[in-house]
Amino acid sequence: MSTIGFIGLGNMGGPMAINLVKAGHTVQIFDLVADSVDKVKAEGGRPAETAAAAVANADVVISMLPASRHVEAVYLGHDGLLEHIGSSTLIIDSSTIAPVTARQVAAAASEKGLMMIDAPVSGGVGGAVGGTLTFMVGGETEALDRARPLLEAMGKNIFHAGQAGAGQVAKVCNNMLLSVLMTGTAEALQLGVNNGLDPAVLSEIMRKSSGGNWALEVYNPYPGVMPGVPASNEYEGGFLVDLMIKDLGLALASALDTSTSTPMGALARSLYVAHGDQGHGQIDFSSIQKMYQRSPK
Ligand code: NAD
Repeated sequence: MSTIGFIGLGNMGGPMAINLVKAGHTVQIFDLVADSVDKVKAEGGRPAETAAAAVANADVVISMLPASRHVEAVYLGHDGLLEHIGSSTLIIDSSTIAPVTARQVAAAASEKGLMMIDAPVSGGVGGAVGGTLTFMVGGETEALDRARPLLEAMGKNIFHAGQAGAGQVAKVCNNMLLSVLMTGTAEALQLGVNNGLDPAVLSEIMRKSSGGNWALEVYNPYPGVMPGVPASNEYEGGFLVDLMIKDLGLALASALDTSTSTPMGALARSLYVAHGDQGHGQIDFSSIQKMYQRSPK
């Protein structure tokens, strides 16, 4: 069993840390928000006064932070965690951040003789709670081999995408595609409804036809078509529009960095930004359906 320093105990990090406690590890926890710490403490996590104290004597450090700037602030610079982490400690950053930032932090860790992987996740809060996340890993095989037992305590699928930053690239590509297929599905459903079709009937036809996709299978965006999804619960819960906008910003930045043409991703980002500006940032991303719905005449 390992001693783990876990930094960032929000919607995702909290349940991930709890799964590590349940697997029998000693988990030293830190977050800026006391309530988040208390939830993990109640399940056996050991609160630390500072991030530096949480990583003291840890075999492995795991972070699950909002965005690139938080990861930079936590690890780099004067008194950043790289100054405090012991030389045999493995670092796993599971936040979704810019690939370029992941490479910078991994390079800074390497300069100090530390092994680090980027391991962003897919699967949402449900996957974090259920321990069924998908991890997309960038870094050395040796580091992934060391991380694997811990990743298996938090997830079901573990993919080695390539060298440092490759996990973040995979995550960005996946979420860009997800945004495109969700907006396309919402648009097609609305076209059918506006031309007199029942959205449930049309969904079933397209699901079994060449337009079939993940949204039609398990995450239908049209209210009332599929039980148990955000669309049938006022778009509460799920994956927030604001987080999708963040991920599409990362996709755009990666496209600019490499002069890659991503017209569909750019359009999906514009749609999501406009949707967020209309006050929908804190509801599920399948709510893009609202953008297509006609107001009552
Ligand atoms: P969240 O905002 O709920 O949690 C982030 C936590 O980090 C907060 O508790 C915050 O207090 C803490 N934090 C920020 N700065 C800190 C610091 N300096 N020291 C210690 N703690 C600090 O976010 P989340 O939903 O848990 O997402 C975390 C990451 O996972 C993001 O990068 C997100 O894009 C990604 N992600 C989220 C989902 C999802 O469905 N929520 C799915 C896949 C990936």
